[in-house]
Amino acid sequence: MDLFEYQGKQYFARFDIPVSPGGIADTVEEAVVQAAAAGYPVVVKAQVQVGGRGKAGGIKLANNEEEVRLHAANILGMDIKGHLVERVWVEYASDIAEEYYASFTLDRAAKKHLLMLSVEGGVEIEAVAEKSVEGVASILVKLYRCFTEGDCDLAEINPLILKPTGEIHALDAKVSLDNNAEFRHPEWAEYRETEVLDERELLAREKGLQYIGLQGSVGIIANGAGLAMSTLDVVNQVGGSAANFLDIGGGANADLMSAALEVINYDQSVKSILINIFGGITRGEEVAKGIVEALNRVSLRAPIVIRLDGTNAEEGRQILLSAGIPESVLQSKPTMLEAARAAVAIANAN
Ligand code: GDP
Ligand code: MN
Repeated sequence: MDLFEYQGKQYFARFDIPVSPGGIADTVEEAVVQAAAAGYPVVVKAQVQVGGRGKAGGIKLANNEEEVRLHAANILGMDIKGHLVERVWVEYASDIAEEYYASFTLDRAAKKHLLMLSVEGGVEIEAVAEKSVEGVASILVKLYRCFTEGDCDLAEINPLILKPTGEIHALDAKVSLDNNAEFRHPEWAEYRETEVLDERELLAREKGLQYIGLQGSVGIIANGAGLAMSTLDVVNQVGGSAANFLDIGGGANADLMSAALEVINYDQSVKSILINIFGGITRGEEVAKGIVEALNRVSLRAPIVIRLDGTNAEEGRQILLSAGIPESVLQSKPTMLEAARAAVAIANAN
């Protein structure tokens, strides 16, 4: 889950990372109140989850109330790269001597935490460290604690600034929380309320599905996260692109299959649906019954290609065959590769 800058800064503050005093506003009047509380001069900052807000005119310096009114009025309602600005963050403006970059993220290949630091303007980070050892080292330690104890996928400060007074300070915050750690963080509930999801993901969440929306044209349903990921890879390998990741997990009853098909069907860019099931605990005949029943409930815009293997796969295929579903609606392929090829061929022809 991605946080807005103001939420990221609140999160940073919990770990003692220095940020500027400020407040959130969704009207011009509120922005004026927040500016007075923060103290002039202030920066008025568009709260959208996209980079380059400064260049897009979404970040403005204001020296007095009149300027706050002007900038807040301009920025609220602004469209920045397709993101509507509904709130501005107003904070005390900082003097900047140098701007740096610092982030913690995962290096998945190395299975390690990755710290990235960069220094612009020819200043060596060592020189900064010499001038302000306390500041740099301690902020990195705090950022690391935020990343690990705070269960982040990404904790990024860009820019991390050096003030003329020698202090180090976070001027921006990009925080992405690890959804799998949500059970440890009841306080994340407030972030869910403002979360920006695409409509497909909202529908999937309502139905309790493990779904991630992607940009391609082949809708994917698989049982197990690993198999779903492999399915995306194979679709890619044979020249297609997946419209989503969807793991229906261990069960594959009619309710679950209907829900999965409904979410996929909702996506206008889906041109074919690839169902990839390897039965273990999940039994082939249950999957087949689930699909037959789901087809009675959901009228699909795109044809299905299914690869059904593993436990009771033959029984499952028999059920699909005897249900008399036309080839134009559902076809069965013996392997994952052949199924992916067929699904991609349909998607790319449309
Ligand atoms: P982004 O463009 O969306 O990444 O937004 P940032 O919050 O990183 O701001 C972009 C740039 O605006 C920064 O790199 C700074 O140069 C400038 N900026 C932001 N806040 C302040 C501030 O308090 N004082 C000054 N002088 N510049 C600021
Ligand atoms: Mn930034």
